[in-house]
Amino acid sequence: MHFTSTRSLRDVTSAQAITRGLAEDGGLFIPKEFPKISGELVNRMINMDYKARAREVLALYLTDFSADEIARSVETAYTGTFDQENPAPLVELRPGLNILELWHGPTCAFKDMALQLLPQLLTISAGKTVPGRTIVILTATSGDTGKAALDGFADVPGTKIIVFYPQNGVSAMQKLQMVTQKGDNVAVCAIEGNFDDAQNGVKQIFADSEMKQYLDSRNMEFSSANSINFGRLAPQIVYYVSAYCDLLRQGKLRRGERFNVTVPTGNFGNILAAVYAREMGIPIGRLICASNRNNILTDFIRTGIYDRNRPFYTTTSPSMDILISSNLERMLALLYGNDTAAVSNLMSQLAKTGRYAVSAEVLTRLQSEFFGGFCDDAGTAETIRQTFRNYHYLCDPHTAVALNVYEQYLRETGDDTPCVLASTASPFKFAAAVLSAVRPGILPADEFEMVTALAETTGLLVPKPLAELKNLPILHNGCVTKENMKNFIRSVLS
Ligand SMILES: *Cc1c(COP(=O)(O)O)cnc(C)c1O
Repeated sequence: MHFTSTRSLRDVTSAQAITRGLAEDGGLFIPKEFPKISGELVNRMINMDYKARAREVLALYLTDFSADEIARSVETAYTGTFDQENPAPLVELRPGLNILELWHGPTCAFKDMALQLLPQLLTISAGKTVPGRTIVILTATSGDTGKAALDGFADVPGTKIIVFYPQNGVSAMQKLQMVTQKGDNVAVCAIEGNFDDAQNGVKQIFADSEMKQYLDSRNMEFSSANSINFGRLAPQIVYYVSAYCDLLRQGKLRRGERFNVTVPTGNFGNILAAVYAREMGIPIGRLICASNRNNILTDFIRTGIYDRNRPFYTTTSPSMDILISSNLERMLALLYGNDTAAVSNLMSQLAKTGRYAVSAEVLTRLQSEFFGGFCDDAGTAETIRQTFRNYHYLCDPHTAVALNVYEQYLRETGDDTPCVLASTASPFKFAAAVLSAVRPGILPADEFEMVTALAETTGLLVPKPLAELKNLPILHNGCVTKENMKNFIRSVLS
């Protein structure tokens, strides 16, 4: 099994792809060919638990890992870290519509599914490619990724993690989750500025030769935990394969029968994992790509034109407030049959003009595979309210966007193929938006009062990791300008 770049041909192992994160040509690492899941393997997986399924699927990609390395990684990632035995349960909302709950991990968002496993995969990969070096994870976050990465890497031997977040750009709950993070190898710091400032600062530091030398001299190496790393994608493929096995086991699907997948989408990582599962032979039909008011992907799927020259909106589903969906580059590679020149051309147009258009042929294929739709904050709130009223199921705003778009899909196409809908966060993580949707009246001023009120209104339990936050000491209260990020890193690493 080999990996190559979306922008030029090369041959790297999975360990190299995971250690480096990004290819030197600026492209993303993709599998040269997709491994197939045989009918015999599906038969065996139907009766396996999640961890055993994960071992089988990962082994198909990580062929330079030993079976023992994969088994140990999976065991560490999914034992005692999630609030139930199965990290990704499938819950039937109504016949034909199944919710894949991906938020039972330590930070209550779907990022845990990958970020509990990435530290194991990364340290094993680094041991194979840059033995003896300490890996320094540098991450800019707009909320969910930072905490999930901190939790995953905390006290992992051979690693350090530094997270920067925009001072006024994350929710109160997200900020508290980060500034209370424990661990001897973790550092968290606010940036004066917005998410773009934090992100650009981190990118500049990655490219800074002086910083590289500084790390070299300490036998250290930078790496990234963001969703362009194949080590984050691989664990996400597992839960779509697992959902198929669960549908078969529950008798909701017959062998080989298709199901559709609906995903609330930002960086295009989660939905791409479903595409990869389909390439491996899982019978996935239509991919329903749901966006909030930042509906650049809806427009792309409908017109074939990707254009980021548009206003940026802040919404109640902040993890999808994004104008550059990095993982879309991997989708383009697939649509263009790994034509590296075509993908490079589109990406340089995007860098220069903020815009590109795909060929007519590619647009036809894109539209046959995907349905794109979006919903605004009012529609999101209405969906949270109706879903709770009709099914007594409480969903977070990101999941509500997906449910809203799925209903649009049903109305427009009449396609009632069974559907798996990815639910990406606990409703308690976005208590303000969810509470105001299900309980009319004035919101409490304090985040924890909102969480308590939401539990009282719905009769649900507050997830433990969020309830516990209230009593944790603040361990990280630094805030620096973008210019001082390098000094902060030096002080952490010295
Ligand atoms: C990150 C995130 C998303 C978007 O996922 P992508 O893989 O970036 O498309 C959706 N919902 C929540 C809650 C998230 O944290």
